[in-house]
Amino acid sequence: MQYKIKCIGLLTSGGDAPGMNAAIRAVTRTAIFNNIRVKAIYRGYKGLIADEIVDFQTQHVSNIIQQGGTILKTARSQEFKTIEGRQKAYENMQKHGIDALVVIGGDGTFTGARIFAQEFNIPIIGLPGTIDNDLCGTDSTIGYDTALNTIIEAVDKIRDTASSHERLFFIEVMGRDAGFLALNSALASGAEAAIVPELETKEDQLKSLIQNGFRKSKNSSIVIVAESEITGGANGLAERMRIEHPEYDVRVTILGHIQRGGSPTAYDRIIASRMGVAAIDALMDEQRNIMIGIVNNEIVHVPFTKAIKDDKPLDQSLLGVLHVLSI
Ligand code: ATP
Repeated sequence: MQYKIKCIGLLTSGGDAPGMNAAIRAVTRTAIFNNIRVKAIYRGYKGLIADEIVDFQTQHVSNIIQQGGTILKTARSQEFKTIEGRQKAYENMQKHGIDALVVIGGDGTFTGARIFAQEFNIPIIGLPGTIDNDLCGTDSTIGYDTALNTIIEAVDKIRDTASSHERLFFIEVMGRDAGFLALNSALASGAEAAIVPELETKEDQLKSLIQNGFRKSKNSSIVIVAESEITGGANGLAERMRIEHPEYDVRVTILGHIQRGGSPTAYDRIIASRMGVAAIDALMDEQRNIMIGIVNNEIVHVPFTKAIKDDKPLDQSLLGVLHVLSI
């Protein structure tokens, strides 16, 4: 059977996320299975502009499903935000005979993809690769489940010392624009509270927490805080607490980049594999300019414009669950 797409370019872009390699493997093998050639583009859009493009065979993706990070490397490219940069990227695609792209990344990656696709009439399929889970139209993004599990493993360890010394810990996690990591890691680790960006401009979450009397029955507490310029993150809240409530023995832990690393969980490997297959299926089905998502365990196609809308709802009723469970 003859397919219209003969050769795809594949890249990872933006922040790395565990499970990106499982997605690279799935896209590469599904393309080759269907007689579509694969050109691996190193360092995202930067590498597309700089012509860091090589042929990929099935063995290039052997033994990577369990590895964190991305074997294709990732980068941010200011040049791709200019028409001149995108023109160079297009010329390199033509030079290598690439007639469609699969891009793995977050909202910035899809914003760039949408503009590029429109300007040069290129079919592009996106796979959601970001630990923040902040893309609309998918229940989960590749990397989110692994990051959640990394956080709870760390919080479990901090709890041992928090309870021994009867301390109040503010633990900062990633997700400056979306509270999924903070809220769900708080639930999963049995933390007393989560401070999330969705409520930053609506209420003083620290004040509410104190007024509600967090963990009246115990002296140690753990509060998971999303990084934030508004609250100052864990350091900002701890500073306030030391001034307003000197009776608490306050400590701060910023988890930082450990949240991005590590071997992907089974769930991330499975969704990355399913999404990778779905990306090639979609291209062969003449779909273009969509993100592959997963909703209620079914693969879905989400237009880029919808995926990058800044309004993925956080289930705020879960803050109530957290409150009930922390008495
Ligand atoms: P993460 O959510 O992990 O940060 P991301 O995909 O959102 O991932 P960004 O750095 O925002 O990461 O975007 C990745 C790349 O996408 C940018 O370096 C840039 O090359 C491209 N990009 C982002 N916004 C645009 C835009 N408006 N026009 C063209 N390209 C863009």
